Amino acid sequence: MASPKLDSYWITFRGNIGACVDATSEAQAAVYGAELRGLIVTRVQRLPNPANPRLNFLVPGPAYCRTPGECAKAGYCSARHDCAS
Ligand SMILES: [Zn+2]
Repeated sequence: MASPKLDSYWITFRGNIGACVDATSEAQAAVYGAELRGLIVTRVQRLPNPANPRLNFLVPGPAYCRTPGECAKAGYCSARHDCAS
């Protein structure tokens, strides 16, 4: 059985607190976010790359994404901030 594809998601919690969760779907990301943070999830958006703060570490590699709110909308990380160096 092939393992499901993991993506990073930007979770917005009540109070406009954001965090990154790795999961296989938006629904699973919302569940993980609620469990790991103990807060009400108000929004889930797929991220092009992991971002900080990360609540779990299922997607390998550093947290490339510097502006997750913008990148989740755009669907990609711009060259301006997609490098962790
Ligand atoms: Zn980004």
